[in-house]
Amino acid sequence: MGLADLHIHTIYSYDGTASVPAVLAQARQIGLDVIAITDHDEIKGTLKAFDLAPQFGLEVVPGIEITTAEGDLLALFVTEKIEPGLSLIGTILKVGEAGGICIAPHPMARGAGMKSLSRASILHALNHPEASRILIGIETYNATALDRESNQNAQRLFAECPRLAQVGNSDAHVVQAIGSGATEFPGNTAADLLDALWIGATGVRRGAQLSSAQILGSWAINFIISTPARMAVAYP
Ligand SMILES: [Zn+2]
Repeated sequence: MGLADLHIHTIYSYDGTASVPAVLAQARQIGLDVIAITDHDEIKGTLKAFDLAPQFGLEVVPGIEITTAEGDLLALFVTEKIEPGLSLIGTILKVGEAGGICIAPHPMARGAGMKSLSRASILHALNHPEASRILIGIETYNATALDRESNQNAQRLFAECPRLAQVGNSDAHVVQAIGSGATEFPGNTAADLLDALWIGATGVRRGAQLSSAQILGSWAINFIISTPARMAVAYP
């Protein structure tokens, strides 16, 4: 079984604190085979990680977390920025045109910067003939969700949608959180992972879930320390 964390933020996200090399080194260190860097509406960090990945001995799936008009959406296997602010279905179709697939992250979760898709928005997209071929996964475990019921709600929604693949992710905004949620899949390459997503053969691995206070405390400290690095990439 391969292990992937498909929802990680870097200093290229306005709220991320980890540099790209630090993410790659940590992911390798804890034994992940595949990671996706999914910064908010930004693609620079993921492209940098994709280039550096061979030096670190793991595979990077290029990705982005898009702020749609209806909530956050993960797009994987895309190398271009997808415009924020569009409807969920409009965004999904654009990701499809760019050759990617979509995953609904932390569905229905609320709290600290999480703008999540509602159950109604997700079901509406899954009833759309084209969008349903691109939105193929749901995050049933998000280790950074501050609202503890949200993972249970996501699991309930997954149970209603048997065609979807389930994934577990860290949604790490600090380097220490990488891999605290992960996705298991047969094989160990990014291509194996994509195959598993298509047929719903993925599983979820939960790490130790920190308390809301621990998550926010660790993020606040790392956010202050990483401010110069974040400014340097935001205003080069
Ligand atoms: Zn995120």
